[in-house]
Amino acid sequence: MNSEDVKALKALLSKPLRIVIVPHKNPDGDAIGSSLGLWHYLKSIGHEVRVIVPNDYPKFLKWMPGTNEVLNFERDNAAAVQYLNSSDLCFTLDFNQLGRVGQMTPILEGLQATFIMIDHHQAPDNYAQITYSDSKMSSTSEMVFNFINSLGDVNMITSEIADCLYAGIVTDTGSFKYSSTTSKTHLVAAELINKGANNFEVQNQIFDTNTPSKLQLLGCALKNMVILKEYNTAYTCLSQEELDAHNYKKGDTEGFVNYGLTLQNILFAVIFIENKEERIIKISFRSEGNFSVNEFARNHFHGGGHTNAAGGRSESDMEGTIKHFEALLENYRDQLSK
Ligand code: 5GP
Ligand code: MN
Repeated sequence: MNSEDVKALKALLSKPLRIVIVPHKNPDGDAIGSSLGLWHYLKSIGHEVRVIVPNDYPKFLKWMPGTNEVLNFERDNAAAVQYLNSSDLCFTLDFNQLGRVGQMTPILEGLQATFIMIDHHQAPDNYAQITYSDSKMSSTSEMVFNFINSLGDVNMITSEIADCLYAGIVTDTGSFKYSSTTSKTHLVAAELINKGANNFEVQNQIFDTNTPSKLQLLGCALKNMVILKEYNTAYTCLSQEELDAHNYKKGDTEGFVNYGLTLQNILFAVIFIENKEERIIKISFRSEGNFSVNEFARNHFHGGGHTNAAGGRSESDMEGTIKHFEALLENYRDQLSK
């Protein structure tokens, strides 16, 4: 954040406000961790604050302190709309286009509130009065730490805030493994542990709370994997039938796409997941190195994200979607060669 923004923020936050914090649809660990970390902080400096999620999030994130006070726009619609419409300030976290909040989009577009964006995706839209956007950051949670630090309040970071932000950093970096992890990320994580983050317990809650049916679903995805050697690409898919047969719960497929990248020489990994209710195929893209899945998702699958991790969707059926995907690869032969 530049010093002008910090000055403007200090002035804005100097009197008690009604604040709403909104993460993207299908919120992940970073979206929830950054939102709840910021929620605890803003409450502690005297504001009225609510986190409103566009829809539900996975159970493995529901241990985070404050989770019971989160409003779900789908489930608690009337209360959420009322709060949104009367808010002074709207923080949007872990996304940079208003379309990323699904059904909430028209409401956010109509708000009178001042918008503040904190986000680490590429190519931010210009809807916020204050935009703290940095695509080099590991996570929005690391940025919330910087945000609190810039306001001179690092000493106000409690163990609750630290747990939430640590969880967001851990999920978005694959436990400090992805290339977005910097020495600064480790310094922030260390500072969060000093402030009381229980690093072992956080990792345990996120990664070691699997159910047998989830692991069997992973087995199914691994069995379905197709390796396209000539493009250094691996993809897999899960049909609605397969999800149903494994008692699928929200979040169960989180991380499955990464297994393709663990294969030697594979640079591009994809998972296609059928969603019969929304009549779409949800797609996750991951890459190693310079091949930009953000651009691939933006150009071909109505999506976006980061250079090495992006998402998108298709309105065709599974067979048509995969055919289309395979046909596209020829155009990327050079970029995908080792
Ligand atoms: P995932 O594949 O885990 O859903 O998402 C990977 C990354 O891409 C995340 O940072 C997520 O925010 C972003 N992402 C996922 N789906 C979409 C999408 O439909 N549009 C855009 N712009 N970003 C997405
Ligand atoms: Mn993120």
